[in-house]
Amino acid sequence: MTAALTIHLPAVRANVARLAAIAAPARTMLAVKADAYGHGMLPVARAGLAAGADSLAVLEVPAALSLREAGIRAPLFAWLHGVETDFRAAIEHEIDLGVSSRPELERIAAAAGPGVAAVHLKIDTGLHRNGASAEEWPALVSAALEEQARGRVRIAGLWSHLADAGAEADAVALAEFRAAVAVAAGLGVPLDGADRPLLHLAASSAGIREPEARLDLVRFGIAAYGVSPFDDVDGPGLGLRGTATLTAEVVAVDDGRALLDVGSADGLPPAVLGPSGSGAEVLLGGRRARVVEVGVDALAVETSAEFALGDTAIVYGPGDAGEPTVEDWARWAGTIGDEILARMSARIPRVFAE
Ligand SMILES: *Cc1c(COP(=O)(O)O)cnc(C)c1O
Repeated sequence: MTAALTIHLPAVRANVARLAAIAAPARTMLAVKADAYGHGMLPVARAGLAAGADSLAVLEVPAALSLREAGIRAPLFAWLHGVETDFRAAIEHEIDLGVSSRPELERIAAAAGPGVAAVHLKIDTGLHRNGASAEEWPALVSAALEEQARGRVRIAGLWSHLADAGAEADAVALAEFRAAVAVAAGLGVPLDGADRPLLHLAASSAGIREPEARLDLVRFGIAAYGVSPFDDVDGPGLGLRGTATLTAEVVAVDDGRALLDVGSADGLPPAVLGPSGSGAEVLLGGRRARVVEVGVDALAVETSAEFALGDTAIVYGPGDAGEPTVEDWARWAGTIGDEILARMSARIPRVFAE
């Protein structure tokens, strides 16, 4: 296979620097979950930290441990835990843990030994993915305060996640979050001083557009990868650059069509040609070529441009050479850019460009 995904680390750095400047004085946490949205977690983590991210977010403890093993010393945050999660290792390696329920808190506290577990208590503000409900919240906070008094946990954060359902829904969620913070304060969680927990709920969209939601830190994901979280403006319109270029080789010529060596098994969405799709293009021979078939391992494209076996086509990229972007592919497939990026198969080699 000669298809390759080139990761533009300077673009990652530029995007993170821009987002950190937008968020300031709030801190910037860079989400590198899903293998850094398909880019490759470690190089992106290093680039993000070099460009001004203060901390990194992954979903699960094992990914955070692999960052520690690779020598990353920045604060790390993991919030999705399974029944087998090794909290003792997480605490030993100073990984901050999101906590959604009392049973989870108790398991984490029980794993604290030589180290104290840094926990971020999560209130559900309408996303219903996880997090304590408003009814469960006081008991979770009280239990955490008890464990803090026993020296087993430290309440390092109070947090939530917005559903990206628009500015009005975000405003309601922010109000719910503030109410939950007030409840925690009433129970004895200090909101001033060096020991106060970090308050955070904004991801890319609220982090960019809703200054009042930035609080102490913003957890940026998709925007750092050059993809706009909004419908009304694209990445370049926000001053962000595409961070990945997918190239493929012309491996066969069939009836005037070029066959490219990348397909749905590699993560490209066949939906671009389905009932909800709106077609797709690639750049070949300096011109746009229309995708006429999305096979398991090949794309068939038609173009009036000259091409030959062995030529390279750009499936998507930052757009500088006239190629489509990740956002174009997402629109064509009726999906979001996160999915185009994160689905890109590990079989496609990542080439890291400085
Ligand atoms: C994925 C994720 C983020 C980043 O979200 P984007 O919308 O991609 O910026 C932030 N916080 C949590 C909890 C997440 O799961």
